[in-house]
Amino acid sequence: MKQRTRKTQNDTQITETLLTKSPAEAAGFIKRGEVAAFPTETVYGLGADLFNAAAIEKIFAAKGRPQDNPLIAHISSNEEIWRVAREVPPTASRLIEVFFPGPLTLVLPKDADVPPIATAGLDTIGVRRPRHPLAQELLRACRTPLVAPSANLSGRPSPTTWQAVQSDLGGRIACILQGEPTEIGLESTVVDCTGEQPLVLRAGAVTLEQLQAVIPETRLAGHDPAAAPKSPGLKHRHYAPQARIRLIDRAAPGVNTNNSGYIGLNQPEGSYKLVRVCGDTAEYARELFEFFRECDRAGVAEIHCQRVGEEGLGLALMDRLRRASQAGER
Ligand code: AMP
Ligand code: MG
Repeated sequence: MKQRTRKTQNDTQITETLLTKSPAEAAGFIKRGEVAAFPTETVYGLGADLFNAAAIEKIFAAKGRPQDNPLIAHISSNEEIWRVAREVPPTASRLIEVFFPGPLTLVLPKDADVPPIATAGLDTIGVRRPRHPLAQELLRACRTPLVAPSANLSGRPSPTTWQAVQSDLGGRIACILQGEPTEIGLESTVVDCTGEQPLVLRAGAVTLEQLQAVIPETRLAGHDPAAAPKSPGLKHRHYAPQARIRLIDRAAPGVNTNNSGYIGLNQPEGSYKLVRVCGDTAEYARELFEFFRECDRAGVAEIHCQRVGEEGLGLALMDRLRRASQAGER
C-alpha cells in the first residue's frame, strides 16, 4: 500500500498509520524505508532497517527520542549477530546459547557497517533476538536486522498493547503490526559483554540470578548518576505517566485516595479511584505500564505503587517504579 503523508502548517508530518495483523505487510513498509511498530515478548517496539540511516531518523523523530539514546538491534537468528557485531566475546556466546531467543540484550563491539545514528555514536551495539512469533516473522520477512526502541513517545510508559502504540504514535508512523498484549510488560535485560565480567546495565525478565547461574561473575552496574552513564538511555526521563508516582510499603488507611490509583500485591485499604491487585510479581510487571496509562485516562493525580522484594523479576520492577517516581524531579 502506498504511504500517504501531508504537512501541517508547522511542517510536522502527518502519516496515515496502517493497522495490520500481517507481518509481511508490516515488512513491506520497513523495506520501503518506513517505520513499523510490532509486538515482542517484552513491550511493543518501533522498527526500522538497521542499515537505513534515513529510516532510523524517523524513529527518533516519531518518538521525540534524544539522539544520544542508542537503539537495540533485533536479529532473527544467532548467525545474524555477525551483521551487527564485530566480535562476540566468550561470555556473550554462553549467554546466547542459554537465553536467545528471549528478553535479553547483549552489548557488544559494533560492526563498522552499522550507521552511527543507530548506536548514538557509540562503538558498541545492543543486540537482541526476540522470541515472540510475530516479531520473528517480521524479522525474517524484512531480511535485515531491525533497530527497535520501545514504541512510545519518549518519556512515556512503554507500550504493552497495540492500542497504547496507536495512542502515542498514531499519525506519526507508517504501520502497527497488531498482536496480543505483551507477555512480560517490562523492557529487556541489558548486559554489557565488552568487559571482563558481564555487567547488567538494565534489569529485566532475564534475572540477575539466572545470569549468575550461567556466569557467576555477572554483576549489577553501579547506579552512580554522577558517573558517565555506561548505558546512555538510562539517564533520560522514563516510564512516566502524567500522574505523580508514590512508592509505598502498604496502603495506609486514612489517606485521601479519592483521586489516586493503587497497584500492588496486597489489597489496599482506603477508597482508591482505580485499584489493581496483582497475584504475583510477574502479573504486576505485566500490568504496570498499562495501569499507568489507564490512570492518565481517568485523570488520576497520584498513583501509589507497592514496593516489592528486589529478587528475581522484582529487581526490574523496582527499577522501573523508582525511575517513574523520580521522573518529575528530572
Ligand atoms: P529502549 O529500546 O527504548 O528500551 O532503550 C534501549 C536502551 O538500551 C537504551 O536506552 C540503553 O539504556 C540501552 N542500550 C542500547 N544500546 C546500548 C549500548 N550500545 N550500550 C549501552 N546501552 C545500550
Ligand atoms: Mg524505551
